[in-house]
Amino acid sequence: MNKPLVEIKNLKVIYNKGKSNEVRALDGVNLKIYPQEYVIFYGPSGCGKSTLLYAISGLQAPTQGETYFRGKDISKMTKEEMVGLHQKGTGMVFQAFYLIPSLNVLDNVCLPKVFRGESLGRRKEEGIKLLHRFSIVEQANKFPSQLSGGQKQRVSISRALVNNPELILADEPVGNLDSESAENVLQILKELNEIDKKTVILVTHNAEHLHFADRVIYMKDGRIIKEEVNKEKRPLEAGKEDIDIKLDELSDEMKILMRAFKNLSITQVGALLVPYKANQLMAHLISELTEEQVNSANAFLKELLFYNINLDDFRKSLDLSYNKGGAGWNKKRAESFSRRAGEIIKHSEIIKKEESKTAAISLSEYFANLFSLHLDGEIKLRLESFVKQRIENKIDRFEFQKKLDSSKILGGVGLNRLKAEKISREMEIIMLIKFSN
Ligand code: ADP
Ligand code: MG
Repeated sequence: MNKPLVEIKNLKVIYNKGKSNEVRALDGVNLKIYPQEYVIFYGPSGCGKSTLLYAISGLQAPTQGETYFRGKDISKMTKEEMVGLHQKGTGMVFQAFYLIPSLNVLDNVCLPKVFRGESLGRRKEEGIKLLHRFSIVEQANKFPSQLSGGQKQRVSISRALVNNPELILADEPVGNLDSESAENVLQILKELNEIDKKTVILVTHNAEHLHFADRVIYMKDGRIIKEEVNKEKRPLEAGKEDIDIKLDELSDEMKILMRAFKNLSITQVGALLVPYKANQLMAHLISELTEEQVNSANAFLKELLFYNINLDDFRKSLDLSYNKGGAGWNKKRAESFSRRAGEIIKHSEIIKKEESKTAAISLSEYFANLFSLHLDGEIKLRLESFVKQRIENKIDRFEFQKKLDSSKILGGVGLNRLKAEKISREMEIIMLIKFSN
């Protein structure tokens, strides 16, 4: 009960890898799903929802990373274990139903049982029960083409359930249905979760469905961008465990914040921190603006950090006049401000995505440009190594600043105090923005 049913670690799925049409469908996904949870994957078309669902079902092999089902790495399963996963572990429901046109309703439902060598009588008995339950028993002898969309989906749900799997995976199951049938199918999924105690994962791009789930995973561009908990069903330790793992990588300031929110998962805290991040970034970047200009820009900055708008929208919103819903800045300031914010966000993403060594090189170069540092070869390497240590949290912000400040002879970078302080502040803001966004 306390162990996750599904655990995904740094999962990447890249289609057409190395070719000109390469697609990063999943770009480093980490997720745990616990028994009896109802989880929704939500996001725009093409963000990787189906790919994630197929990875969980074992239908899509990872390019990198792992997917565990009941603690077993799916990609290392034997053939028999894989068959077991498909037949008894998971039941899948698709938008396009995938019923077999030449089989009647009852035979379609019982099909997964055929492969398990059960007798015809037993197979049909279970199938009829399910057809009863979902009020389609009168259709038992009809063919799929004779059914309405809603009926077809109830047949395919019956088929998914016939082997009594622990996990139901539904990929936009109501995408093709009228609103009444859609409601009916969503009620069935809810009931399977609440009454039958099945773990359910529903993929949808419809915001009206989100209230059905215990937990909503928001996806964009192959990544999880935030999480919302309607009802906490995970064991208490689940959240803590995440926090403990990540605590080592956090700055001391962040540790204090994490402790203040200790009953929340790291992703929840991440979302809660966005307003704080926006304030910090704002304070870092602005000087002589009016309070009104600052406040409205701050609101747009939050949208940017939530990935609700992109950098270009952000710049336009700053530039737009106040009575048109913008922040009322001038064009030049809007441009330079959004460029600065963009650089900081970009580098926070580099820290998150790249190895610390690669990230350190890129950040050092950024600092050198931003603060016009002229460093020779050896000193440049020193700076990179200090940045790397700060990224890995092996030194804190004060040690970092001291190393920048102290003289070259003493092993430092030999910058003046003011520059050392500016770089260290820039570094901290990048570390903060990086944190779980
Ligand atoms: P969603 O279900 O959120 O709409 P998908 O997981 O289907 O997203 O797709 C994610 C991305 O991967 C999209 O850009 C899609 O075009 C691409 N993609 C999906 N399947 C394939 C495939 N078999 N070959 C190449 N690209 C694919
Ligand atoms: Mg899809």
